Amino acid sequence: MIGLISATSAGAAARDRLAAAWPDRTRVYEGPVGDAVRAAFAECEQLVCFLATGAVVRLVAPLLGDKGTDPGVVCVDEGGRFAVSLVGGHGGGANELAEEVGELLGARPVVTTATDAVGVPGLDTLGFPVEGDVAGVSRAVLDGEPVELDLEFAWPLPALPANVGRPAPDAVRGRIRLSDRIVRVAEHEVVLRPPSLVVGVGASKGAPVEEVLGLVESALHDAGLSPACLAELATVDAKAEEPGIVRAAERLGVPVVTYSAEELASVEVPNPSEAPLAAVGTPSVAEAAALVRGGELLVPKRKSAASPAMATCAVVRRPARGRLAVVGLGPGARDLLTPRAAAELRRASVLVGLDQYVDQIRDLLRPGTRVLESGLGAEEERARTAVAEARRGQAVALIGSGDAGVYAMASPALAEASDDIDVIGVPGVTAALAAGAVLGAPLGHDHVSISLSDLHTPWEVIERRVRAAAEADLVVTFYNPRSRGRDWQLPKALAILAEHREPTTPVGVVRNASRPDESSRLTTLADLDPATVDMMTVVTVGNTATRDIAGRMVTPRGYRWQEAAS
Ligand code: SAH
Repeated sequence: MIGLISATSAGAAARDRLAAAWPDRTRVYEGPVGDAVRAAFAECEQLVCFLATGAVVRLVAPLLGDKGTDPGVVCVDEGGRFAVSLVGGHGGGANELAEEVGELLGARPVVTTATDAVGVPGLDTLGFPVEGDVAGVSRAVLDGEPVELDLEFAWPLPALPANVGRPAPDAVRGRIRLSDRIVRVAEHEVVLRPPSLVVGVGASKGAPVEEVLGLVESALHDAGLSPACLAELATVDAKAEEPGIVRAAERLGVPVVTYSAEELASVEVPNPSEAPLAAVGTPSVAEAAALVRGGELLVPKRKSAASPAMATCAVVRRPARGRLAVVGLGPGARDLLTPRAAAELRRASVLVGLDQYVDQIRDLLRPGTRVLESGLGAEEERARTAVAEARRGQAVALIGSGDAGVYAMASPALAEASDDIDVIGVPGVTAALAAGAVLGAPLGHDHVSISLSDLHTPWEVIERRVRAAAEADLVVTFYNPRSRGRDWQLPKALAILAEHREPTTPVGVVRNASRPDESSRLTTLADLDPATVDMMTVVTVGNTATRDIAGRMVTPRGYRWQEAAS
């Protein structure tokens, strides 16, 4: 819950906007501000104070405890110009909250945490536990000091700056380790604890939670493995509701993941047995459930100490799942690139894309991001490279203009990808949508996009689709409409449409939508001059109902209330 506190009427107005926008996330604290801040501090995970920073500093100072548990505090000034992340930038989520509040109120987020300010990922924001001297090692990373990076296994980390790597041993000023083993954390060292371990569990009906929990904990402990890296308990579908397993998972703070007996039966395991085969239909539950997604068996099946033993478990280090984010950059303007796209670009340690798109967003990348750019025509290579890097356990962003799934890299990349990587799609504003917004409302009724590039598609196929769109009276946006070597396709496509539409049908031509040299013109099927069209352009042809209304291209949707009025 976010506690909202204000003192003046201007503050209260801004407060009410926030409360109205986030009714389920916020609670307004009325009354004297001192009491309100104290109450909110005790009851909420976050506070937004519509007060001067000085006032808030004085009020929260006596309440501050530990940065791991204190709420995040954001201050918004009287004029609503700034949203200041004051306390709990990372742990309390105040940095993110300042961004969000800023966006909502039109205020500028002010974030002073060093790691965010210079674009280095905070070691405590990686989404998993970190042990050791987080502040000291973060400082060394930021100060450009030589910091050793010691990865026991691959994991899709965000980019780290160049001073983090393999410095000469006597130069090392700090160390970042990634390990799932129980290790003694040295001075100037942090240990990253990614969720790399899966424990497969089997349990007889009614197995006590203490027995299951004790077994899991001792299996990890005896093998020298850290419970902080536990990702999930895995078992067979039939045991999904088994209280001993469900409660043990709750106590460990991890989910229970289940698989069908059939799937588990197909997994090769070192220690199959008859008992589970008879009971649930697979010769192995614990080992098979732990191994079903692949990985390295660190602890083979073992039984609980009780007699008779009612639980079994096995521990697997699962292969790191690389991340492939397929990110649409939008049509060009920076403010049409979504915040989610920007976050994914910052999350990546490897960026793959066409050189001219990479140039558009280079400033958004974190220092240390490996950029693999290539020119036009290297699509296949880009798709392969992106997938191969993700399969190596990297965090990869593959970029495309507009939406990366529309005449772009997503489909060739995903055609190459297997299910051993995570794929995150970030939609983008397409050229057709950007052009539509420039022209008016041409896409108000059913519409299609057709690429006129016959490099990869035989012209007969393209022509058949244009004809179908013509007959179906669809609004058509032509992509890749015309280039130096391909000049007859657009006139031909327009001629096909003209067989079904009046010469006066509106046609919108938009070049470089949302880019600095954007231009657009509204013309007609009869008057369109193909020479005004090039590869930076999309051409949108109306249907039989599309009109030029006050210089804007409008395709009516046929609303009844409009008919009634006319
Ligand atoms: N993935 C992109 C399309 C890539 S195909 C998208 O979703 O929009 C490349 C074609 O898109 C270009 O030949 C041009 O026809 C069109 N295009 C891309 N960006 C454009 C822009 N800003 N303005 C006009 N047309 C654009």
